[in-house]
Amino acid sequence: WSSSLDDLEGSLKTHPPTSSMRSAHGAYALRSFLLLLLLGCSGAFLAPLHGRATQAPESSRCLLRAMGRKSGRGRHFSLLSTRMEGDESSSSSSRKEVMNSREALTEQIAKRATTVSSTEEKAGEVGLSQFEQGAGTETLGRQEVAEEVSMGVWGQAMDKGTSMALKEMSGLKLSFPALVVDRALSSLDEMLSFGSGGERQDKAGVKKKLVVVGSGWGCHAFMKNLDATQYDATIISPRNYFLFTPMLAGAATGTVELRSITESIRDANKDFNYLEATVTEILPDKKKVSCQTVVCQGAQCSINDFDVDYDMLVIGVGASVNTFGIPGVKEHCYFLKQISDADLLRKAIGNTFERANLPDMTEEERIRTLTFVIVGAGPTGVELTAELKDFIEEECPKYYPHLLPYIRIKVLEASDRVLMQFEQGMQQRALQDLCRAPSLPSLQPDYVQVLLKSSVKEVKESTIYLNDGTSIPYGIAVWAAGIGPLPVTLDLIKKLSEYQTDPQARGRLLVDRWLRVFGAPGVFALGDCAFMRDYALPATAQVASQQGSYLGQRMSEGCDFQQAIPSRKPESARSFVGSLRFTEHAPPFQFLNLGILAYTSQGKALAQLELDKNKIQIAGALGWLGWRSVYFAKQVSTRNQAMVAFDWLKTAIFGRDLTRF
Ligand code: FAD
Ligand code: MG
Repeated sequence: WSSSLDDLEGSLKTHPPTSSMRSAHGAYALRSFLLLLLLGCSGAFLAPLHGRATQAPESSRCLLRAMGRKSGRGRHFSLLSTRMEGDESSSSSSRKEVMNSREALTEQIAKRATTVSSTEEKAGEVGLSQFEQGAGTETLGRQEVAEEVSMGVWGQAMDKGTSMALKEMSGLKLSFPALVVDRALSSLDEMLSFGSGGERQDKAGVKKKLVVVGSGWGCHAFMKNLDATQYDATIISPRNYFLFTPMLAGAATGTVELRSITESIRDANKDFNYLEATVTEILPDKKKVSCQTVVCQGAQCSINDFDVDYDMLVIGVGASVNTFGIPGVKEHCYFLKQISDADLLRKAIGNTFERANLPDMTEEERIRTLTFVIVGAGPTGVELTAELKDFIEEECPKYYPHLLPYIRIKVLEASDRVLMQFEQGMQQRALQDLCRAPSLPSLQPDYVQVLLKSSVKEVKESTIYLNDGTSIPYGIAVWAAGIGPLPVTLDLIKKLSEYQTDPQARGRLLVDRWLRVFGAPGVFALGDCAFMRDYALPATAQVASQQGSYLGQRMSEGCDFQQAIPSRKPESARSFVGSLRFTEHAPPFQFLNLGILAYTSQGKALAQLELDKNKIQIAGALGWLGWRSVYFAKQVSTRNQAMVAFDWLKTAIFGRDLTRF
């Protein structure tokens, strides 16, 4: 297939522009058709991999039980408000007096929940590239291990937990093939274990209260894998949906629609109670979380505070955008982290073309308006560049042929490489794909430029200033340069500072190999907001979702997490396969790295598969086929698969929709 597609591409180049445009669309449609055929066949057996959401009838628990419990709101509010530089509404006056629109108040809460000071931002920098994968250091001797285990006391053993466990459980550290088999069996176990595994009750016979904070990759996978009928389970997140982040770039340029890449949290697991609110503070000593949400009566809205108690807490709040404290970024750049960011960016792209099309514009002004600057050449920056390039080369000749000569894309990268996580050859390939001269003669041959070793000093309304003294006038700037911690995470780390001591964690919660937060019994953290001691993992969806599945399965088995090494009982095995795999001690989390993917425009992508120590590198059209297949298979529901497949087909046949609302 790859060679026939390459032939097709080769023949396209020899055609004149108009017909090449048409056949480019044809090639795209052909590829999409072939892909859909393939996916249609594989869909039947991929479907069970979605994970099982227990479908027991809605339990009779009181829905807004938690809303009634109000207390201590002054405290956490003042704590958060200290972070709000220059926001007057954070003054001591009661928030009950603030009557405003729902949107304005929701935005106010969101701003508080994501704004960190620039020093905190720097201290907590979690750039993806900084992380090397690797097993931990095994520091403790066997004797010490035995002592620690015999103590078996939560808390006391925690500090040495991970290294101790690594030693004790080294026999359980699975080799790559064993890990693959283990994951397959685990999925099978999950499929077979329908029905309740019994209730997890406290001493008084009441179901344990399990609270989950966040609805992203980690928490969503957790929900899908947890038999929530065993717990009194509540999920709290300002976002009532899961978001498939890897396709945000496609959503921002109209390749897929926004709703195709989200799944309702209420669909994900019907045995969870969902509260639409933002957690503002976690109080591990009182075993409760403080929340804020907007409540409206008629036209009048106010911010409502309430607390929710927990016996067990799972934190998966993710990360925020890191601007490294560079002036002007927050004010003038677009981001690509939430679905609303993709929506804004899509509208802005449409708007910038319409603006550039207006009469009375000088040449210079038109070039500025059509200059797209993307800061950061990691996977997000590269994929956005690729999608934008497709948009320009596939849609603009139809609608804005006279604007083509003015379009520029500039990718700024502070380091000397793109796609840090890929092997060097693949990085070169990415550069070639992005900067390849377009087949349309009216576009500048070098309209896409990747500027390495270019770090941003300041962003002003229409110009970006670089540290090397140069400046770039721009129309749209997108910041895709790194992630950092959220205030709620930093606050909890501060509260647990005695235990949260690893300097490498940089703004993430230090957890052991069973995802238990050091210093906070009953609290677990996963995904981008967690850092596993002695087992540094990249901040990716792959890691977060594997951690979520792992924890969901362990909790469904009723693991006793109070033991230094969590243990389980033979009767907790939930299926025949589960009983075959049973070990008394729950194995620690182990990441199965399946490889990385990146789209590089015009039906080409990089796929770097990792099979143990071997890396298989695939680029070009075959890589693209792999990329689309994986993204299709990884959709979290059949509904999403159907919608994404339909969007791809729609784009291939009719192009992208340019209307703006
Ligand atoms: P998230 O998925 O970010 O979820 C956090 C959740 O917590 C959200 O629901 C949020 O609303 C909620 N929340 C936040 N604050 C609060 C609060 N105070 N109270 C309550 N709830 C809160 N990774 C890959 O592996 N492959 C890719 O191709 C890839 N592409 C990406 C492309 C883009 C554009 C982006 C932005 C990221 C990409 N990633 C990719 C990274 C991946 O999205 C993250 O690593 C992953 O989302 C982390 O999962 P998480 O559960 O920790 O956090
Ligand atoms: Mg999550």
